Amino acid sequence: MSHFDTVIVGGGIAGASLGAGIAAQRRTLIIEAESQCGYHSTGRSAAFWLESYGGPQIAQLSSASRDFLDRPPADFAEHGFLHDRGAVHVSDGDWPELPEGVRARRLNRQELEELIPGIRPRWTKALLEPGCADIDVAGLHAAYLRTFRRSGGTVATDSRLVRASTNNDGWIIELTDGSTLTASIVVNAAGAWADEVAEACGAAPLSIAPKRRTIVQLRVGRSGLKELPLVDDAAGSFYFKGESDNSIWLSPHDEIPTDPCDAAPDEIDIATAIDRFEGAVDWPVERVERSWAGLRSFAPDRLLVYGFDPAVPGFFWCAGQGGFGIQTAPAGSKLAAAILLGEAPDPMVEHIDPAIFSPRRFA
Ligand SMILES: Cc1cc2nc3c(=O)[nH]c(=O)nc-3n(C[C@H](O)[C@H](O)[C@H](O)COP(=O)(O)OP(=O)(O)OC[C@H]3O[C@@H](n4cnc5c(N)ncnc54)[C@H](O)[C@@H]3O)c2cc1C
Repeated sequence: MSHFDTVIVGGGIAGASLGAGIAAQRRTLIIEAESQCGYHSTGRSAAFWLESYGGPQIAQLSSASRDFLDRPPADFAEHGFLHDRGAVHVSDGDWPELPEGVRARRLNRQELEELIPGIRPRWTKALLEPGCADIDVAGLHAAYLRTFRRSGGTVATDSRLVRASTNNDGWIIELTDGSTLTASIVVNAAGAWADEVAEACGAAPLSIAPKRRTIVQLRVGRSGLKELPLVDDAAGSFYFKGESDNSIWLSPHDEIPTDPCDAAPDEIDIATAIDRFEGAVDWPVERVERSWAGLRSFAPDRLLVYGFDPAVPGFFWCAGQGGFGIQTAPAGSKLAAAILLGEAPDPMVEHIDPAIFSPRRFA
């Protein structure tokens, strides 16, 4: 039976980034249920960094992550992962409100129409958040896995944890193929399955709730859209951004509660997205080029969960990545690694209070 200091359950961005942060110091294995890491939420995101997103506490992690994403250390990646885009928060009611400290400015009508030609007159207020950028998610995830392996970590795909129990020596972990592993620490980075994995390890679930979100790639009768800003309804009914010269990625901002699963888009959510899009701009809709859905999994207070379970020794939470798990990964994984290793936090996150994200807040 193989023994590891740490077994991380889940090979998405959460497991990969934390793994990269600890593998040099702890013999670590990532087990991933699917045949490929990143198959679930990590491979299905809208791929943007938006500082205002998720409220002030999430914004702290997003802001702390930006420099790393933009100019990663040379031994991590040769190029940055960000591509400037900018975001325009539009409103047909009150002025949009952003967390304190987020750089933004009001646009007048002429500026708004220059940025989003064809925007309908009902959108009377608009804030430009210039810092919004696209993230090369596949590149970032691959760089974390590469760093993890280079530091001595091992990845086992097609390896689903079925249950785990403890004895005096630590964890005994059972996988679907009947094999077992032992470990001192189990990390729960199972995304939508975080509560299921907790229960399988004898820990109380934290009500991490998976919610489905849909993205539609839409071909429209307008060109020059590749660099279109992210256009976001401040009331939360849609967002879209340029994809190619004449196509966009559009979401109806859906949050459908669901069981953990291989999420697929529902026709009604695609139709809702198109209807809302037609209420935003006057561009003719030509066809749906493709669509997909993924799960965003939230703790009850919609903050991330990093830390040891208060009741089950050796069980570490790295869950609740919600709709911001990519843009917070650099800082979030540094914070989680410091807690797991019992070390002083990296300078990137030393100003952030880890208690905000501790699972103890639910005790
Ligand atoms: C449509 C959409 C748009 C999004 N847009 C953005 C965005 O623009 N910016 C942003 O920052 N974030 C965005 N997100 C959120 C982001 O994608 C997630 O927060 C992030 O990917 C979560 O990563 P994860 O590693 O926690 O989960 P996942 O990527 O789902 O990884 C968890 C893994 O655990 C594995 N697993 C589960 N149970 C077991 C088990 N028992 N044994 C072994 N393995 C197991 C699963 O197979 C899975 O691969 C978006 C999400 C969606 C769905």
